[in-house]
Amino acid sequence: MELITHYLIGVLIQILCFLYFLFPFNIFFTVYFAFLSHFVIDALAKLTYHTPEARYQDKFWVTWHIVIFVSSLGVVVIFLIPFWLGGVLANFVDIWDWLILRPTQNKKKKENPQSNWGKKYFFHPIADWLRNKTLFWAPNCGYKRVGIITEIFIIFALLYFIIPLI
Ligand SMILES: [Zn+2]
Repeated sequence: MELITHYLIGVLIQILCFLYFLFPFNIFFTVYFAFLSHFVIDALAKLTYHTPEARYQDKFWVTWHIVIFVSSLGVVVIFLIPFWLGGVLANFVDIWDWLILRPTQNKKKKENPQSNWGKKYFFHPIADWLRNKTLFWAPNCGYKRVGIITEIFIIFALLYFIIPLI
């Protein structure tokens, strides 16, 4: 799913952990649950518009990604202090897989096209496994534009829970 959705889940987890646990357990559980939330949310991505590849020729794809980019930026800025811990940890799997491992892997592949480096260090296969175990019955909305409604619904549901708590 998108950064904004992961970030908001992280914010909600941090709020709840700080509400119900004392130091240092509030920090420990924020880190733990925010990190794990990524797999649950990414398993749900099957129900949202989520093309595996970038589609720069497709106006709908471009518009949706501009909307998501701008709102993600807004959410990160608004909730950065004091919720950066939950927000960042909820996105850690994407940071690790896409920003650290993938570029390193591409570099290795340039040097040696047969290189299989780093394959076992990716986190996303865990989300794929969880999705196949739990949502095998659900339709795949990856290319269905109507799938943005699921993501928008989840974002507003999260804001609905978060706003009264801050
Ligand atoms: Zn992810």
